Amino acid sequence: MGKPTGFLDYQRKDPGYRPGTERIHDWRAVERMPSAEDLREQAARCMDCGIPFCHGCGCPLANIIPEWNDMVYRGKWREALDLLLQTNPFPEFTGRICPALCEGSCVLGLNRDAVTIRAIELAIIERGFAEGWMTPQSPAERREERVAVIGSGPAGLAVAQALNRRGFLVTVFDAARKPGGILRYGIPEFKLEKSVIARRVGLMEAEGVHFENGVVVGEDVSLKYLRDRYDAICLAGGAREPRDLQVPGRDLKGIYFAMDFLRQQNRRLDGETIPAGEEILAKGKRVVVIGGGDTGADCLGTSLRQGATDVLQVEIMPEPPPTRSPSTPWPAWPLMRRDSSSHKEGGTRRWNVSPRELIGKDGHVVALRAVEVAWKTGPDGRPIMEERPNSAFEVPANLVLLAMGFTGPRKSRILSDIGVARDNRGNVTKDANNMTSVPGVFAAGDMARGASLVVRAMADGLATASGIERYLDSIKSTCTSLKADADSAV
Ligand SMILES: Cc1cc2nc3c(=O)[nH]c(=O)nc-3n(C[C@H](O)[C@H](O)[C@H](O)COP(=O)(O)OP(=O)(O)OC[C@H]3O[C@@H](n4cnc5c(N)ncnc54)[C@H](O)[C@@H]3O)c2cc1C
Ligand code: SF4
Repeated sequence: MGKPTGFLDYQRKDPGYRPGTERIHDWRAVERMPSAEDLREQAARCMDCGIPFCHGCGCPLANIIPEWNDMVYRGKWREALDLLLQTNPFPEFTGRICPALCEGSCVLGLNRDAVTIRAIELAIIERGFAEGWMTPQSPAERREERVAVIGSGPAGLAVAQALNRRGFLVTVFDAARKPGGILRYGIPEFKLEKSVIARRVGLMEAEGVHFENGVVVGEDVSLKYLRDRYDAICLAGGAREPRDLQVPGRDLKGIYFAMDFLRQQNRRLDGETIPAGEEILAKGKRVVVIGGGDTGADCLGTSLRQGATDVLQVEIMPEPPPTRSPSTPWPAWPLMRRDSSSHKEGGTRRWNVSPRELIGKDGHVVALRAVEVAWKTGPDGRPIMEERPNSAFEVPANLVLLAMGFTGPRKSRILSDIGVARDNRGNVTKDANNMTSVPGVFAAGDMARGASLVVRAMADGLATASGIERYLDSIKSTCTSLKADADSAV
């Protein structure tokens, strides 16, 4: 423990954001970096509580948090970096966009505010880059087995980095123009600047990972073709089939899925030209975002930056309590209201709203008609929704963004062509070694677990890399013993 009385001496201090009036006029990262003195004090708040729930039950990567807090307090940044990189392949991503599941189970959070773990993690990795400590980690020896990873989101990147460092020859295929998956094409620049992804991809290339972008596996190249040429395959194609809104008026113009809107803005910032007829822009529009989660919040922040007249975000579920709900006691991840940086910039939020119709004029959406709902607990303990009498209302809307989550992997030939088994939700099933029903074909990230979080995709990627290594090791040892048997028989 850095400072035994640190948790009594210092209050939690979040890094904070650039002023709202400034940041909505640009796309740069909204979050500030804490000062060196603030970091030292925040790290000193860690109690080194003996049973670190942050490490053992909060963080899916099992980051060794109390130890790096201690090292940061003592100014041992290089040691902190080495420890962080033992468990986290890309702390520069999680340090920026992880919801910090660890902080929900921080022991200090029982009766005070949790340690600012995510901000400290980001400071450690950025110090590593600034000091020039983040150099390519090429394998000492190469193996001859080749692995194809399909999808370059956080899961695919984690698989690729881990296997390449263990000597395998890794090629990452992705349909998109550049690697990163949702990190690059979903999450807005103001939460995660894309130069951060490019910096990591550059390191991976220098280490020997080969990226093939603009290749749709299943169409441009078949999975059968890849199976013939690679010793193992990892499917990391994400879960991006959007949940649709089944109401009258859904076919009007001006209604889009959130990912189409966000993806387009990220492409625009990357210098791509969007054909005039395909542009989705909020400038001068009254925007309604349907869905109260993080994707909806990203639509809100993006709409404000594009110059929307106003933005309303509606959610069917009730407003969560301001502090941890009794239904999620410590150390569970707390159900509570969360306001993202975008919510602090403008717009309005409404809960308990159920959309009923999209109203149009001349074929274009002009309003949303909705009702208010109330929730009660049913006899089986499950929530039941009821419409509030006389609660129907209408709001003007000439851009409607659907951000109601994802139902599973997109329909694609990569899964159907070789008959990869899926569960009743459409997610790819896998065994304890992360192998699918097809021998030699593995799966990682959202494609197997359903839409989730970057940190979970990365943890899946690391586990799947180990599964692939075990599989290739077992094939190699079988081949070696068969050869030895054959030699002795001659
Ligand atoms: C708008 C938005 C914001 C989010 N914000 C956060 C956040 O702040 N924090 C957080 O933790 N999580 C966030 N998430 C969730 C998180 O981004 C995902 O859980 C995570 O990216 C999943 O990683 P993945 O590698 O499994 O898949 P993805 O990131 O979806 O990557 C899959 C990749 O596979 C490629 N692909 C698919 N099929 C093929 C094919 N046939 N051929 C070639 N390539 C293919 C795709 O092009 C894509 O690049 C957000 C999600 C969205 C949609
Ligand atoms: S990856 Fe996320 S959960 Fe794990 S230590 Fe970092 S912020 Fe916490």
